[in-house]
Amino acid sequence: MDFNDTAAEAEFRAKVRAWLATAAADYAAPPAAPYPLDEFVARSRAWQKLKHDAGYVGITWPRAVGGQGLTPMHQIIFNQEESRTYAPTGLYSIGLGMCIPTLFTHGSPEVAARYVPRALEGSEVWCQLFSEPVAGSDLASIRTKAVADGDSWVINGQKVWTSFAHRSDFGIIVCRTDFDAPKHKGLSMFIVDMKAPGVEVRPIKQMSGGSDFNEVFFTDVRVADTHRLGAVGEGWKVSLTTLMHERLAVGGKPRHAPGYHTLMAVAAGIETDTGPAMERADVRQRIADTYIADEGIRLTQMRALSALSRGAMPGPEQSISKVVVAKTMQDMAAFALDLSESQGLAVEPGSDLEKLQTSYMWSAGLRIAGGTDEILRNIIAERVLGLPGDLRPDKDIPFSQLKPL
Ligand SMILES: Cc1cc2nc3c(=O)[nH]c(=O)nc-3n(C[C@H](O)[C@H](O)[C@H](O)COP(=O)(O)OP(=O)(O)OC[C@H]3O[C@@H](n4cnc5c(N)ncnc54)[C@H](O)[C@@H]3O)c2cc1C
Repeated sequence: MDFNDTAAEAEFRAKVRAWLATAAADYAAPPAAPYPLDEFVARSRAWQKLKHDAGYVGITWPRAVGGQGLTPMHQIIFNQEESRTYAPTGLYSIGLGMCIPTLFTHGSPEVAARYVPRALEGSEVWCQLFSEPVAGSDLASIRTKAVADGDSWVINGQKVWTSFAHRSDFGIIVCRTDFDAPKHKGLSMFIVDMKAPGVEVRPIKQMSGGSDFNEVFFTDVRVADTHRLGAVGEGWKVSLTTLMHERLAVGGKPRHAPGYHTLMAVAAGIETDTGPAMERADVRQRIADTYIADEGIRLTQMRALSALSRGAMPGPEQSISKVVVAKTMQDMAAFALDLSESQGLAVEPGSDLEKLQTSYMWSAGLRIAGGTDEILRNIIAERVLGLPGDLRPDKDIPFSQLKPL
């Protein structure tokens, strides 16, 4: 492994860093409080447009669809440098990270020409309409149906946990188009207009007070056949393109996430019944455990980067990082809040304890989104360690003959 930039990588990094120093000058420090949703959306749009005009969007995408035609290492270097700032980026991560690469891989050139440029400049936001109330990990069990009607399709059903659906213009949706085929073989993928008649978006209230994701109901929603991605019945194959991009996107530690140093800072200020928290063996042990996990994650990521820099693609071992990141963040935050006793409830805005409280609330979601701990462990067992596969007895049975559990 070589952790250093090559000469070309160092040159690109210096160029990006110089650009960010002026372009992101307003985002050098964290905001005093999280932006209200409307302000977050407005700032995200403005930031995306700035990056677009400077040529830092679609970095790895082919030039033919409006990308920069550079390597994954260029994208990673840009992400690393951008993540040193506090510029708002999350609004586009699903669209640009997953939906649009799926669209230009499986859609027609006309469809790509219509949607890719506006997604890149940030004037249109996208969401991923995959999960349903009884189909998450087992995505191939979805029931939302699309029925052909002339040169269009009519969609009926429900999706859930759709991040940013309430702020999206379009989504990619996987539907069942053949109930008599085995579950993976009767699916098709479409582009859907989130403002079309029959689309109803209902935000879900989270324990943090925010509403990042939604239930989405479809009642007789019409989609033109030109907006199908991939062949009829090939929706599973198309969705694997999206899921591959999703696993790459959610592998690492979220930027500015608390780490062992945050736990140390909080513990240093706490006096417990038995003396200063930092003198307690269990506290010191927990800090050491968190440090080991943080370093393990960092080095696993560096190994993946080193592979990318050599032109190889990181494989399923990327799942290891996500399993460790999410659990470490949740355990560390729970420990710090316990240690803080009642102070862990009423935290000061901007404090380390507030960071840990926020982390406690959303790390539970991180253990589910983009593949649950158990599913990622199955991937590690089967595809990294070569252990026998999970039982999949329903794989070859027509979907219409499967009985819900
Ligand atoms: C923050 C967040 C954002 C999300 N955003 C989106 C989005 O934008 N679009 C979208 O389509 N979806 C989104 N999701 C949904 C997400 O993809 C699903 O929640 C996830 O796939 C799990 O599915 P599920 O919730 O139906 O749980 P289930 O699949 O029902 O799992 C329930 C439990 O059973 C376990 N389990 C299931 N199968 C197995 C197995 N074979 N072996 C062992 N254990 C198993 C799981 O690990 C879990 O503990 C989001 C979720 C979260 C938390």
